Amino acid sequence: MATHKVGGEVDAFCTRCKLTLAHTILAMVGTKIARVRCNTCMGEHAYRSAPGSTDRPSASSSRSTSSSRATSASRAEKPEKVVISFEQQLAGKDIANAPKYSPKDTYQVDQVIQHPTFGLGLVTAVRGDKVDITFKSETKTLVHGRGGAPAERPTFHPPSARATGPADKPVPPSTTEADPSSSPTSTPPAEE
Ligand SMILES: [Zn+2]
Repeated sequence: MATHKVGGEVDAFCTRCKLTLAHTILAMVGTKIARVRCNTCMGEHAYRSAPGSTDRPSASSSRSTSSSRATSASRAEKPEKVVISFEQQLAGKDIANAPKYSPKDTYQVDQVIQHPTFGLGLVTAVRGDKVDITFKSETKTLVHGRGGAPAERPTFHPPSARATGPADKPVPPSTTEADPSSSPTSTPPAEE
């Protein structure tokens, strides 16, 4: 390891020139260079070894870390609002085919309707013969299903319905004899 001495030259990082330049050693502490003078700008400053050798960029990195932390903290102070606007609620809905509201019709949740007074509305709840419809400015509770139609039980299918249709083979549901599924390899008794 080369030994430096006061008055000698050493390559050091000049804080003014922002370059690694030849410096004259002005002071030493033990075997370490303490103070140097830049041979280019003649500025005197504490000795800094050339970047990349022993100069650690810890100062700059810690500064960037703190700044990024401040950014995230400020972001946490302002959580994004998750309020969905009325337009966003209607986005993706079939607005073009929104039916006109009529108390005689029956509506379902998420259905878009067109009200003559309140405009476009989104059905948010159905309670019996009442529906909550969110309009742009307010939410209204309106009636529906007053048409006298089978709106009472729209999803009720009587089990006898399939027995009435002769479209398929009239297989009695309780018959267990002559089940073709018990012998799948044999030719089923087709009636075609
Ligand atoms: Zn310099």
